[in-house]
Amino acid sequence: MTFDLRRKPGLAGIVAVVLLLPALAYVAGAIVGNGTERDAPAQVETTAAPPAPAPEPVIVAKLEPPKPIVRTMAIENGDNLMDVLVNAGAERAEAHVAIQSLKGVYDPRRDLRVGDKLQVTLGPVSMEPTTQTEGLDYYLSSLRLPVTYDREVLVDREDAGSFVAREVELPLETEFVRVSGQIDSSLFVNGRDAGIPISVLIELIRIYSFDVDFQRDIWNGDSFEIMFERQRNADDVIVNNGDVHYAKLTLRGTQLPLYRFETSKGTIDYFTAKGESVRKALMKTPLDGARLSSRFGKRKHPILGYTRLHAGVDFAAPTGTPIYAAGDGTVVMATVNGGYGKYIKIRHNGTYSTAYAHLNGYARGVRSGKRVRQGQVIGYVGSTGRSTGPHLHYEIHRDGRQINPLALKLPSGEKLKGERLAAFQVHRESLDTHFAALASPHLVANRSDQPDCDGNVDTC
Ligand SMILES: [Zn+2]
Repeated sequence: MTFDLRRKPGLAGIVAVVLLLPALAYVAGAIVGNGTERDAPAQVETTAAPPAPAPEPVIVAKLEPPKPIVRTMAIENGDNLMDVLVNAGAERAEAHVAIQSLKGVYDPRRDLRVGDKLQVTLGPVSMEPTTQTEGLDYYLSSLRLPVTYDREVLVDREDAGSFVAREVELPLETEFVRVSGQIDSSLFVNGRDAGIPISVLIELIRIYSFDVDFQRDIWNGDSFEIMFERQRNADDVIVNNGDVHYAKLTLRGTQLPLYRFETSKGTIDYFTAKGESVRKALMKTPLDGARLSSRFGKRKHPILGYTRLHAGVDFAAPTGTPIYAAGDGTVVMATVNGGYGKYIKIRHNGTYSTAYAHLNGYARGVRSGKRVRQGQVIGYVGSTGRSTGPHLHYEIHRDGRQINPLALKLPSGEKLKGERLAAFQVHRESLDTHFAALASPHLVANRSDQPDCDGNVDTC
C-alpha cells in the first residue's frame, strides 16, 4: 500500500514534511489522483532539512487511511448485548445479525455476565487516506466475548455482511510458582500473607485434610512450602491460579511432602514420597469377625420401646473383640457418654468423625487428644450403657451429623506399585528439581520487577 512508505519516515523526512506543508498537500493530492506512490517521499526527502528539532508531525498521521476503532465495553448490571453493541457504535441492524450468528455458540442471556469485558471492533467503510477524524462511517467488524479464562467467542464479519461466530482457545502461558513460609498464626493466614491465592490455599488444606487435623496439629514454628501453576494471557496478566503440584508441611519437625500424580485409574491424586495416596476411606466395618445386627434408620428401640432413629450400625461380636480406628485422626472423646456407655469419638478431618459405643474398655494410651492411625486398636467390644448384649454401635458423622456408614462412598487411596510406582518416582524427582530451581537467586531477580510480585513469593 501507499501508506507504508510514509508511515515511518526518517527524522529528516519528518522535519521536511512539517516544514513543507503546502508541498505535502500537493503531493497527497497527486497520490489520490494518479497513484504514483513512490513520488511522494522521494520529492519530500530531496529537500535539505535544517538541524533544529521539530514538533510532532501530526499532519502525517492524519493522512493515513482511517484506522479501525477498538472499544472495550464492560458489562454492567442490566446490560443486554444489543444495547452494548449499539453503545459501542454498531448499527442496530448489524448488531442484530451479529447476535443471530451466536446461536449454538454463545447465549447472551446465559453467558453474558456483569464484569465481562467485550471487545468491539468497528472498521472504516472507506480506506481512503483522509485528514478527517470525525464524521467517518464505520461498520461492525468483529466482536470478542469472554467465556472462561482460557476460552472466548470470536464473531467476525464476512464479505457478504454476515457474521460467523466460533469459540477459540486463548493462548496462555503456564508457569510454576513457589511459595514458602513459617506458621505463627495458621496455615490459612500465613499462607495467604505469603502470597498463596485463596483458591490454592483451600485446595492445599483439602489435600492435607486426610493426614492433618488443622485445629490441633499446627504449631507455632511449623512451616509450609508449595508449588502451584498459574496461567497468564497474551497481555501477561494472571488469569488463573491452578493446580497444586507439590506441597510440604513440616509439623513439629515431621516432613509431609505430597506430589500430584495420576492414579492407575486415570484420576488425579496426591501421593507421599513413597507413592501412597493420601486419600483414605473410612472403614465401614471397624472390627473383624463381626455380624451386622442392626442397620442405620428408624427402628423400635430394644430397651426404650419407642421408635426412633438408629443413628449408626450395630455389629454383634463377642466381648473383648478389638475395635479399630476407622481412619487416621485425633481422639476427641474417650469416656462414658450416657446411654452410649464407654464411648470413643475420633475426628478424621474437617468433615468426618467416627464414634464407637458400648465398649468394654479402651486400648492402652487411647484418650482425648491422642493421634490414632487407621486400623489401630482403640478399644474392645462390650455392652456398657443402654445395651442388650455385646455389640459395637458405630457411627460416622459428616459435618456433625450422623450418616449411614454403609452408604458412605469415600474413594479409597491407592498404593502405587511396579511400573506406575517407577513412573511416579521419576515424576517426583522432576517436581523436586523444578521446585529447587525456582528458588535460585537469578530467577527471583529476573521476575522481581513484575508489578504483581509479592516479596514473599519466590518467583512470580
Ligand atoms: Zn446401635
